[in-house]
Amino acid sequence: MSRRRQIYEGKAKILYEGPEPGTIIQYFKDDATAFNAQKKGTIQGKGVINNRISEYVFTRLSHIGIPTHFIKRLNMREQLVRQVEIVPIEVLVRNVAAGSLSKRLGIPEGEPLPHTLIQYCFKDDALGDPLISEEEIACFGWATNEEMQDISSMAIRINDFLSGMFAAVNIRLIDFKLEFGRLWDGDYNRIILADEISPDGCRLWDMTTGEKLDKDRFRRDLGGEEEAYQEVARRLGLLDSDNGPSEVLDLSAHRKLRGK
Ligand code: UDP
Repeated sequence: MSRRRQIYEGKAKILYEGPEPGTIIQYFKDDATAFNAQKKGTIQGKGVINNRISEYVFTRLSHIGIPTHFIKRLNMREQLVRQVEIVPIEVLVRNVAAGSLSKRLGIPEGEPLPHTLIQYCFKDDALGDPLISEEEIACFGWATNEEMQDISSMAIRINDFLSGMFAAVNIRLIDFKLEFGRLWDGDYNRIILADEISPDGCRLWDMTTGEKLDKDRFRRDLGGEEEAYQEVARRLGLLDSDNGPSEVLDLSAHRKLRGK
């Protein structure tokens, strides 16, 4: 087998050239970073779980008509996706105050927001992904007004769907990050959902206990990050299937998380 060409290595994923033109392979690593990569570490088994969770979420979203880059999962750590031109904007969707919003505006973490808030950050590590306005997006041409319409309406639909999906397994979707890409077809392009959706880019709290089941366990040195990611996968019913990650993961982990 010929060696695949690596296109890009990010903080949590490596991208390789796919088997067909216009395709890419996303390889999910166990590496974790926080605070603009000032904090680095590993979450054992994270890549396997995020690959599986993201496959599940993107597949469910495609069933409600959200166009995504996902084609199929190839193995435990890799998925085949469509090559897109990433829009250089991180889309943050918030239902409950937490993280940078709480810090910036002094709103206590856990306070429900009067309505869902969509915020945009400019994807630039050197600048620390600064918050940007829609006026700035239009002014500097990072996305057209039409593209922003598509992005914001998809973000709201995704939030509604995911809030219900997680609520059904007793998880509160506090906030999350989305990335979109342009899929070119001749001279035209359309916006589709790209990147991943996993506990790396979402805040997920147990609805009963408020326990954090996401990357804040790593960011805030709370411990139990492996178990938290597994617990999310387990609740979504992803750990028990024959071809799921169960073979390599300790199924007793969710009991440890609860101290049982
Ligand atoms: N988020 C992310 N990547 C980023 C910034 C934010 O995945 O580069 C996610 C984060 O996990 C959270 C949501 O977006 O679920 C809102 O992030 P916030 O700005 O509060 O991030 P913080 O600075 O607290 O990590």
